[in-house]
Amino acid sequence: MQGFDLGTVLRPELGELAAYVPDLGEYAVRLDANEAPPVLSAAARERLAHEAVVAWERYPDPTARELRRAVACRCGVGPESVLVGVGSDEVIAALLTACVRPRGRQAATVLTTTPTFVMYRMSARVRGLEVIEVPLDAAWDLDVAGMMRAIEFASPNLVFIASPNNPTGNRMSPDRLERVIEAASGAVVVIDEAYIDYASQDQLGLYHRHPNVAILRTLSKTGFASLRVGWLIGRPELVAALDKVRLPYNVNAIAQRLATFALDELGAEMAAVTHFVCGERGRLFTELAALDGVEPWPSEANFIWIRTTRPANEVHAGLCTRGVLARSFHQRGGRLAHQLRVTVGTARENDTFLRALREVL
Ligand SMILES: *Cc1c(COP(=O)(O)O)cnc(C)c1O
Repeated sequence: MQGFDLGTVLRPELGELAAYVPDLGEYAVRLDANEAPPVLSAAARERLAHEAVVAWERYPDPTARELRRAVACRCGVGPESVLVGVGSDEVIAALLTACVRPRGRQAATVLTTTPTFVMYRMSARVRGLEVIEVPLDAAWDLDVAGMMRAIEFASPNLVFIASPNNPTGNRMSPDRLERVIEAASGAVVVIDEAYIDYASQDQLGLYHRHPNVAILRTLSKTGFASLRVGWLIGRPELVAALDKVRLPYNVNAIAQRLATFALDELGAEMAAVTHFVCGERGRLFTELAALDGVEPWPSEANFIWIRTTRPANEVHAGLCTRGVLARSFHQRGGRLAHQLRVTVGTARENDTFLRALREVL
């Protein structure tokens, strides 16, 4: 039999990428994925179970009309400005499929920061796009001059900025955001607000003021990661273009139903979850700040970005041994070799983490 070499048909970029696999080990305390702690009330859980009834043999609503209405209502925009996806990950993929007209014979370029959410790069590379990552400054804020140089040099089609940023937890300075958006007037600038419910202020005003800005949000970080529902708020022309790119029936019927219910009926419950997390975040921050060997960075998200005097991989391994999973960024080297990210969990989880950390240090 003749051999078949799959490599001759695969995209060359796949060679540089690894599949996204979270740590599947057994840990008593998992604080690695920025999920909300399980503090939803029993009553809310019961109501959700009761709502999980759909026409099993039917496809879901292809236009996700009710869910888009609920999102629009929550965000104060019209439903024609809302695109829903299987998590904001799918919306990112749709943007990277639609908004990438090649520049001459060159593949389109995507501009983002580093460190930031890895899916911007991954999703762009699997589509053969060029990616430019401009390092954040020493305070993990936007380097406006660096971003402007990249915009001038590469004319990106798309700019992704997470604010609050993952993994650093800070919001980008409003004036810097504004300057980058103005410099990137030929690009769609996506402000990823995955963590906005934990921040002191949102950035929807940027969308209202700038025709090239779109906002990304998700239910994943506030208690409904299981549903895989995220959305984009953008100009109707952009939403219409992305609508051609997304798969039909992308958001399943149960997810549409329960996400709509969560947005319409569980607003107070979700606010209680974020309020609880913000309280624990404050406590965790104070306790970390009092420890020698670690330096927490102020956070507007549901996790804390921690500088460790010892290499982060050693601290991470010590935590793992004690049953606590955090996220280390040591593989990326440089200034990230001493950075850990830990999700704010339940009070008990946070105590377990602090106890383990004290032992490790
Ligand atoms: C977690 C995360 C997302 C992904 O959210 P999903 O809706 O679960 O796909 C998007 N952006 C940032 C910055 C995140 O941290």
